[in-house]
Amino acid sequence: MFDKLPVSSKTEKILTKSLDMNIKGPDLYPLLATADFLRHQIVGDNVTFINNCNINFTNICTVRCGFCAFGKDADDPDAYILNDEQILEKAEGAVLNGAREFTLMGGVHPDADIDYYLHLLTLLKDNYPHVTIHGFSPTMVRDACLASGIDIAEGFELLKDAGLDTLPGTAAEILTDRSREIICPEKVSVAEWVDTVKTAQEVGIEGSATIMYGHVETLEERVEHIDIIRQIQHETHGFTEFIPMTFMHEYSPIFLEGQSNLGATGTQDLKLYAVSRLMLRDVLPNIQVSWVKMGFRFAQVSLIAGTNDLGGTLGGDELSEASGAPDGVDASINTFARMVRDLGRHPIERNSNYTEFYEIE
Ligand code: SF4
Repeated sequence: MFDKLPVSSKTEKILTKSLDMNIKGPDLYPLLATADFLRHQIVGDNVTFINNCNINFTNICTVRCGFCAFGKDADDPDAYILNDEQILEKAEGAVLNGAREFTLMGGVHPDADIDYYLHLLTLLKDNYPHVTIHGFSPTMVRDACLASGIDIAEGFELLKDAGLDTLPGTAAEILTDRSREIICPEKVSVAEWVDTVKTAQEVGIEGSATIMYGHVETLEERVEHIDIIRQIQHETHGFTEFIPMTFMHEYSPIFLEGQSNLGATGTQDLKLYAVSRLMLRDVLPNIQVSWVKMGFRFAQVSLIAGTNDLGGTLGGDELSEASGAPDGVDASINTFARMVRDLGRHPIERNSNYTEFYEIE
């Protein structure tokens, strides 16, 4: 699949142990301090974020992952698909609020071929050419290319030409086929996810990488996942950031059916962030805290575990909302700036791929 970076089994054992529940209390301090020191060495004291707007264009989804409380069958009374007018209304509100990015996320609609996604891009780019578009998922793009009878590289070329700037690294969940068989058997396999993001990057579409942890995976699988991301990044340099996302169990079908864990605890979250920094170092320098999953207070604390980005203001996130987002799904630049300054660090707004930065008043 890709050339392996040399990782000694001793290193792997230490990293796995770092994630282990047995590290408790003061034993956690050296891990966090090392990760925070590395963060300071690699990216300095800026904490970045983006003024963005999530547009969840449909919740109709054929994939129906076991962890997801958002996706619906087409005949569900709560199923929806936004029309052009509704999408533009949401976009207009966000632009008036200073949004620099639209994030297009949603379910995998059974009728969505490549033309559907091209239409969404064209609609937004025709009206807001200055706003970047971070959109879709590897599963969506693969399914759409299949439905349209084109190969994935061609699909990405078309999406790029229509205005897709960056690709969210969602659908990664845990990159082991064992866990995926339990939590998302209909989604892309590990090999397909790797192939899809690498194809996007070859076409010139950079994107994020994610991990969702705390459900059915083992500690070794978390490390294996981060290592896959590290290997790809070493080869392509096409990831803009790594986003650990803690599993929100409360409304998830696999938890309600007794198939998953309760989700990670706070110290497990901190260990995951810290180990991510130790493994990714400057190969993938931006590690994002998902405030929408953790709430503002714990997101702030997580910034001392090796992380340097707070993600987006969102202006709504129906996937997280359906999972029980603790502090809502809409943040402001001022909230982020207060959290960051209180840590003695420097808040700074960024664009989608971390190439432009803007000072906060
Ligand atoms: S996570 Fe995404 S692909 Fe999976 S069921 Fe939810 S909306 Fe569908």
